[in-house]
Amino acid sequence: MEELIASDDFKNQSIAHLSGAVQVRTESFDDLGPVGQDARWDVFYDFAAYLKTTYPLVHSTFQLDRVNTHGLVYTWNGSNPTLRPTLLLAHQDTVPVPEATLNQWEYPPWSGFFDGKYIWGRGAADCKSQLTAILDAAEQLIAHGFEPQRTLILAFGFDEEASGPHGAGHLAPFLLDRYGKDSIAVLVDEGSTLQTKWGTFFALPGVSEKGYIDLEIVVRTPGGHSSVPPAHTGIGILSEIITILEANVFEPRLYNQNPYLGQLQCGARYSPKFPPKLKALLKSRPRHFLSSDAGDTLTNTKRKTIRDPLAEEAAKDSLYTRYLVQTSRAVDIIAGGVKINALPEEVSVKVNHRVNIGDKPSDVLDQVIALTEPVAHKYNLTLESLPFNSSSPKLENSITISPLKGVLNPAPVTPTEVDPISPYTIIAGTTRALYGEDVIVAPGIMTGNTDTRYFWDLTQHIFRYGVGFDADAITSGVHTVNEKQSIAGHLRGTKWMSDFIRNMDEAELP
Ligand SMILES: [Zn+2]
Repeated sequence: MEELIASDDFKNQSIAHLSGAVQVRTESFDDLGPVGQDARWDVFYDFAAYLKTTYPLVHSTFQLDRVNTHGLVYTWNGSNPTLRPTLLLAHQDTVPVPEATLNQWEYPPWSGFFDGKYIWGRGAADCKSQLTAILDAAEQLIAHGFEPQRTLILAFGFDEEASGPHGAGHLAPFLLDRYGKDSIAVLVDEGSTLQTKWGTFFALPGVSEKGYIDLEIVVRTPGGHSSVPPAHTGIGILSEIITILEANVFEPRLYNQNPYLGQLQCGARYSPKFPPKLKALLKSRPRHFLSSDAGDTLTNTKRKTIRDPLAEEAAKDSLYTRYLVQTSRAVDIIAGGVKINALPEEVSVKVNHRVNIGDKPSDVLDQVIALTEPVAHKYNLTLESLPFNSSSPKLENSITISPLKGVLNPAPVTPTEVDPISPYTIIAGTTRALYGEDVIVAPGIMTGNTDTRYFWDLTQHIFRYGVGFDADAITSGVHTVNEKQSIAGHLRGTKWMSDFIRNMDEAELP
């Protein structure tokens, strides 16, 4: 496999496979209707057909189940049914390309053009590189006589970029039904890639994801003529609430179960440029400070007063790092007012939050209610908090706070013990064998959510990991113009998949 993947023939074939996959325009949209009713899904028939002609051995060896029409589950049954399966995920869909940005692309977004170093186009990096890397590896393993002991499952959703309800939302229950709870040895999906941090080369497979809650706040006040207004219209009152929300964000907190704590510990031990101040704070931190038990029992008042100097120092690094240890808040959508001579009767705002590991979405709701209460009192408005999709009548003179669809707890944290051997050990070993012994493998976190949100019941061992890395390449264009994928990185991803499948096959997991 090593020789083969290093060969020019294989490289040319890989370029053709990924380029061809990019040329099938599998955009997903937030407003897609059910499969079978919305014709925009039909392009996924073309994508499945493309995979069928491109990977003949996979299609003659694996069993293929189509779940909710376009979800693809490939199963290669192992010879030893007592071994729990390996599950590899990738998504077939891409974010759309807005018409207005077409002229900014250096090469057209569905060209799959290869310039000698990069393959260009929408989906080249996210996520068709990982998808074709998995299939290229599987196709060659079959061609060269590999026969698994451990069952290998590939599952490809088709609306990850629209939160996955039609794809992964069906794939996970399908697998749960077939194999049962905690039946899968390991799951690898797209995620964070290798990077240099504190002067050290790190691989940071995501072992958790932040939680999620969107809140809508609606202010209803009496209408009337603008010539005789009250001191504050609904817009003024809502503005006051927004100002308070932005002035009272969450504090940085490193609960003990947050994988970033492990990342800091690895940095302190292995990175020459690790900041001394952080190192000292790590050393002086009491062992049970903000342990998961304490995190669960902290009262809201205590939450407000307790400070975490380590998290505060770590958060100074960058906004990105800050939100690995802090619940984020972003006021994203506002609406209200219809006419210049009429007082607004209903104004609303939607606020997005990504919930810190160790906190809960309900903590966010409680905090927003507590912050809004004084404003409601001040203007003599009734404050009500409604559950999602509530059909309660609209109260006059009120402030309503309600969560929107898609509330999600932070993901359970994947175990990263290495003794006894765990799937994390196999992830780390495969990575260091490929990228070199200088690579430090440490637990990572995702600030966004992947299709893995549907798979928590199938396995504790979930990794969000972009395995194909090229230090000489610029990764750019994901979710924007000029998306491109370095072929060297892509080939390393293929090699990682091939190695990982075989390493998992031989692993003696407890
Ligand atoms: Zn993706």
